[in-house]
Amino acid sequence: MHTLKTRQDSSLDGISGAVLTPGTAGYDAARSVWNAMIDRRPKMIVRCRNADDVIAAVGHARAKGLPIAIRAGGHNVAGHAVCDDGMMIDLSEMRAVTVDPARRIASVEGGALWRDVDAATQTHGLATPGGLISDTGVAGLTLSGGIGWLRARHGLSIDNLVAADVVTADGSLVHTSADQNPDLLWALKGGGGNFGVVTRFEFALHPVGPEVMFAAPIYAVEDGPGPIRAWRDFLARHGDLVGSLCEFSTAGGEDFPEEYQGKRVYTLACVYNGDAAEGEALLQPLRELGEMVADFSGRMAYCDLQQLFDTLMPAGDFRCYWKARYLTELPNEMIDLAMKNALAAPSDTTLSSLWNFGGATAQVAPDATAFGDRSMGWMYSLDAVWTDARDDAANIAWSRDGWDSAAAFGQHGRVYLNFPGHGEDGDDLTRSTFGANYQRLVEIKTKYDPENRFRFNQNIEPEQ
Ligand SMILES: Cc1cc2nc3c(=O)[nH]c(=O)nc-3n(C[C@H](O)[C@H](O)[C@H](O)COP(=O)(O)OP(=O)(O)OC[C@H]3O[C@@H](n4cnc5c(N)ncnc54)[C@H](O)[C@@H]3O)c2cc1C
Repeated sequence: MHTLKTRQDSSLDGISGAVLTPGTAGYDAARSVWNAMIDRRPKMIVRCRNADDVIAAVGHARAKGLPIAIRAGGHNVAGHAVCDDGMMIDLSEMRAVTVDPARRIASVEGGALWRDVDAATQTHGLATPGGLISDTGVAGLTLSGGIGWLRARHGLSIDNLVAADVVTADGSLVHTSADQNPDLLWALKGGGGNFGVVTRFEFALHPVGPEVMFAAPIYAVEDGPGPIRAWRDFLARHGDLVGSLCEFSTAGGEDFPEEYQGKRVYTLACVYNGDAAEGEALLQPLRELGEMVADFSGRMAYCDLQQLFDTLMPAGDFRCYWKARYLTELPNEMIDLAMKNALAAPSDTTLSSLWNFGGATAQVAPDATAFGDRSMGWMYSLDAVWTDARDDAANIAWSRDGWDSAAAFGQHGRVYLNFPGHGEDGDDLTRSTFGANYQRLVEIKTKYDPENRFRFNQNIEPEQ
């Protein structure tokens, strides 16, 4: 293994970031993450400012026998960014992004948010596929796949990951690319935070925008599944250029007519992965599928699109339990089930969605990335979102029951590991999701993290 850097002593002396312990100023703010249900107390939080700090932190954790949780954006709904008793490595001060427009490569520090990447890359008319909310961390989203609007033409986030710098469990900084330590790059493409702390990512960039076409006609659930069926058939023809989800929600606020307030609705949200004017014409039929409740369609700057949903999901306000499974196809029966589940949601802030795949995402071979099989046509996600702790059981049950109810339409029990519930399923879902790639991941985990120091994730246990 080619190593860039190590450190001989295991102290935290001389690091440039802060070390927070229970009772010190800032400790409670630093241990809070996006999901308000998560309340964990690390023994220490090391707020790293650079790769040297991360090397020191990992070396210190190793010497003290502490397990390590890694925080980037803190959006993981299971709260994997923070642990009880161990060390939390907090990368939220490592957000720099630099762009080489000639090579079309972005270099992104391990704690960056998608808004950092979008702002830096769009300056050059470029982008790489990220998520739908701009304050989600690049690291967590990428390491388990990364599903965003640009997936139709440019694939998942991992399909654009070309290199990374990683501090592994022995405290050394390692570079991985197609030429150096390629096994590690393969594992990072879907294997989660199992292999070390990624201090820097390199992503391939593509010309995008600055203006893109976003279609968002909204129809009422009570008016039936007709528009969803038409949308599904439309995507069968145009899924190579349209990243989309049908999102069930509850109408509320001044953007919705009085007669629909409090009613369940669905948005056929689509982004055309190409010229905005061309997209506007192509997506127009989706806005003519019946009586719309509202229509949020329009051409907009790519950076605005990437922040459009941010206010729906403010950090720390909500209690959350999210699950998702891949679907082989989207038959009418599955659409009916999604509508029934949406009507049964106990909370009005809850969302559930049908996401399309295909296009560039589907063109990657199952063994080319740890993520695995790309033949899923769709994903069904159930995002229970509520505020009162007394409603925990009802909301968690809704998400789990809805997820169970769709099992017959699922793809070999495979799930999206970035929407993992609260991790109570053990490693069954991890194994079934990685399928034939699981054993190779175990071997790479055993090589880079034999003591399972990085275990707060969709854990792949090393061989004993
Ligand atoms: C509001 C919201 C919107 C979302 N939208 C999308 C979406 O559009 N598309 C999508 O695919 N997913 C989406 N997700 C899911 C998201 O991808 C996951 O929650 C992901 O884990 C978040 O990454 P993070 O860096 O913010 O999380 P964190 O909680 O900071 O970390 C998540 C995991 O990654 C590991 N990790 C973090 N940083 C590093 C690092 N530098 N090196 C190694 N391991 C690391 C952690 O150990 C942890 O296990 C969304 C989540 C939320 C809450």
